[in-house]
Amino acid sequence: MLIIGSHVSFNKDEQLLGSLKEALEYGANTFMFYTGAPQNTKRIPINDLLTFKALELMKANGIDYSKVIVHAPYIINLANKKDLDKYEFSVRFLTEEVERCEQLGIKYMVLHPGSHVGEGENTGLSNIINGLNEIIANTDIENNSVTILLETMAGKGTELGVNFDQIKTIIDNIKNKNRIGVCMDTCHLNDSGYDVSNFDSILDDFDKKIGLNYLKCIHINDSKNNIGAHKDRHENIGFGYIGFDNLIDIIYNPKIESIPKILETPYIEKYPPYKEEIEMIRNRDFNPELKENIIKKQLS
Ligand code: FE
Ligand code: FE
Ligand code: ZN
Repeated sequence: MLIIGSHVSFNKDEQLLGSLKEALEYGANTFMFYTGAPQNTKRIPINDLLTFKALELMKANGIDYSKVIVHAPYIINLANKKDLDKYEFSVRFLTEEVERCEQLGIKYMVLHPGSHVGEGENTGLSNIINGLNEIIANTDIENNSVTILLETMAGKGTELGVNFDQIKTIIDNIKNKNRIGVCMDTCHLNDSGYDVSNFDSILDDFDKKIGLNYLKCIHINDSKNNIGAHKDRHENIGFGYIGFDNLIDIIYNPKIESIPKILETPYIEKYPPYKEEIEMIRNRDFNPELKENIIKKQLS
């Protein structure tokens, strides 16, 4: 069965219940959320009653909560230790974020590995490894199975995690491998230089280097740029350089059927297009007028 959703908001009044309701409006059967604004680290306490209500509503809608994803804020950087305060803040914040996931009952937390900002690839990777081992050790309490998913990155600036070799280096050095995994992002793969039109060979390469069992989530985005552009600018499904047919082939690849697929495509004129995009994906039918239609609807 196709497991598809998008990133949704998480607000203080309804928390997980609100995120779930938004996902259901889109016709999704999974979703991803930030536990607060993605660009800052202000976080509110989790309300267990709202979580409980959300779990009930998930059950009623046949949603498998073990496939719902949290994304850590993207300002966190474990790769650079030159600003030690910032690094230590990142370790502390992510420790708390894992604890929040645990309280919410979330299994997977996606993380951008980080940018070395001039420290170099090797130092950057070892900073990430040390930080992750510390976060995992800090949260090593009974039954905690929150797994940190390293996202494959586009290679903007000095980003790390831009190829499977770097991801492998990190995973090889994580002490508790039950707590680490990978989230592929189709836009990032394309922008970092992978030809996603041949996704089977990407999966083979990943399987040989890392092991397909580590792959737990896929972000489905088209790209505003050509292969290897190192830009990281997401485009709506079918409107970019990857194209609708290639994305459909990825989404319906039988080797990754059980893995949740999450859209992080841009809003169109402040309107989240996920209901329409999910519909196109389910019908395997591209609507080239999607953007125009949404803009027209917004203006009327
Ligand atoms: Fe991301
Ligand atoms: Fe992503
Ligand atoms: Zn991105």
